[in-house]
Amino acid sequence: MTVTSPSSISSALARLGLAEENSGAFAGAWFEPSGKVVHSLNPATGEPIAAVHEVGREDYERVAQATAEAFDAWKRWPAPRRGEVVRQLGEGLRRHKEDLGLLVTLEVGKIRSEGLGEVQEMIDMADFAVGLSRQLYGLSMHSERPLHRMYEQWHPLGPVGVITAFNFPVAVWAWNAMIAAVCGDPTLWKPSEQAPLCAVAVTKIAEQVLRANDAPPIFNLAIGDRHTVGAPLSADRRFPLISATGSTTMGRSIGKVVADRLGRTILELGGNNGILVTEGADLDLALRAVLFAAVGTAGQRCTSTRRLLLHRSIASDMKQRLVKAYSSIRIGDPAEPSTLMGPLIHARAVEDYRKALEVARQQGGRILYGGNVLDRPGFFVEPTLVEAVPHMPITCEETFAPILYVFEYETLDEAIALHNSVPQGLSSAIFTLDMRAAERFLSVDGSDCGIANVNIGTSGAEIGGAFGGEKETGGGREAGSDSWKAYMRRQTCTINYGTDLPLAQGVHFDV
Ligand code: NAD
Repeated sequence: MTVTSPSSISSALARLGLAEENSGAFAGAWFEPSGKVVHSLNPATGEPIAAVHEVGREDYERVAQATAEAFDAWKRWPAPRRGEVVRQLGEGLRRHKEDLGLLVTLEVGKIRSEGLGEVQEMIDMADFAVGLSRQLYGLSMHSERPLHRMYEQWHPLGPVGVITAFNFPVAVWAWNAMIAAVCGDPTLWKPSEQAPLCAVAVTKIAEQVLRANDAPPIFNLAIGDRHTVGAPLSADRRFPLISATGSTTMGRSIGKVVADRLGRTILELGGNNGILVTEGADLDLALRAVLFAAVGTAGQRCTSTRRLLLHRSIASDMKQRLVKAYSSIRIGDPAEPSTLMGPLIHARAVEDYRKALEVARQQGGRILYGGNVLDRPGFFVEPTLVEAVPHMPITCEETFAPILYVFEYETLDEAIALHNSVPQGLSSAIFTLDMRAAERFLSVDGSDCGIANVNIGTSGAEIGGAFGGEKETGGGREAGSDSWKAYMRRQTCTINYGTDLPLAQGVHFDV
């Protein structure tokens, strides 16, 4: 029994304003672009959901110019008024949560509860951004010169290019667009080619809010591939900031192009996240966390756990528990409420999974569970456990699939060194009841990642913290904390309200 009958799907799509064929170009108004028509496929069935008309090169220019012009008006709106627009956007998302969550499930194969969770994350971001719109604080400093005052203030930066990955087809836009909006920056969104319908649906919700507020077109959309949209956007000097989420290969390429024009980037790239489980850890807790982090989203989160480092004393027990738990994972239609694991995104991802396991075997890995592609429509594979030996080269790569490499270790030093030996540095965790081990993991000699957790898995971060990672993960930070500063330009102001002109550092320059 499935909850997604064809008629309930078409009603949900209609409520989101989606048609059988949709424009992929929004610049304050939807227009018919000149690119090709692509069908978005449901990865659980391989069947088309609806089509999107992609932009051509001239269409990109039209959307980019509208975004640049919107900045002139939007930057003058007081920040709390900008926040009010974002508040209404959050309300719009609340109203459409069920339908948009379902669309995430249909288009990228996330299970129902994760699809809904992703929309909730957008709503959380809206709430956060609304509060932030009254808290874009600068510091004031004591001047070393008499009768002088010094402070810093934050101005809007300019139009922001937002390039997103398939696996968070709506939330990552919200991380960027909502913060950018309260900071006074319009956005041009280039979504993943794998999730165009989610982008159209979100932009339609945003469009209603902009119209109701007579606001400039600050949430624009250009759907196309890396050549038609990604490349011109990265090179476009009208966009002082490019926030790009995706693979490290993509980040390397975009990073170079933006650096060449001395623009700013926020790069949110691949992860290769590890969990350490120490002697005496709460294994029940660790097991549940590892399952969600390694199998959830079919291993297609940037924060998915890909490496498990077990202390030798608990390794055999934990492996047995894992094999048992993996064998009870319900794989299938992600729209069915009891399903725990849906499909991979496309056939290429299945091929990557297969190849990675072949290489793992050649490099000395032993499959403890899974390893097979499922013989059914769509792109389904088994969640897989591989007993690994340290420094198997394949374990240093991110394979975007539910493969978990399991290592054993003797000492915490050895485990931390192994943990940090990969090129990526996004998320990490330790399961331990030993306070010294926990603190060590969080210390300067511990995890080298942007995120380090204790007795919590590597995935499922809250929006209140700054999200991002080090090394080949790109160094960007998004969402909470003071991530907003990347979307603004800082200005240091010194005011002399005296009648003399003293120079800093005691320099004299008298004529
Ligand atoms: P991808 O790199 O294939 O594509 C991401 C986006 O970049 C797409 O919109 C794509 O069209 C665009 N793109 C790719 N190459 C480009 C180029 N040279 N110039 C301009 N645009 C380009 O990634 P994907 O398969 O969609 O997503 C999976 C990857 O994203 C994984 O590596 C995952 O770890 C990463 N990811 C990272 C985070 C994070 O916050 N660190 C979050 C989600 C996903």
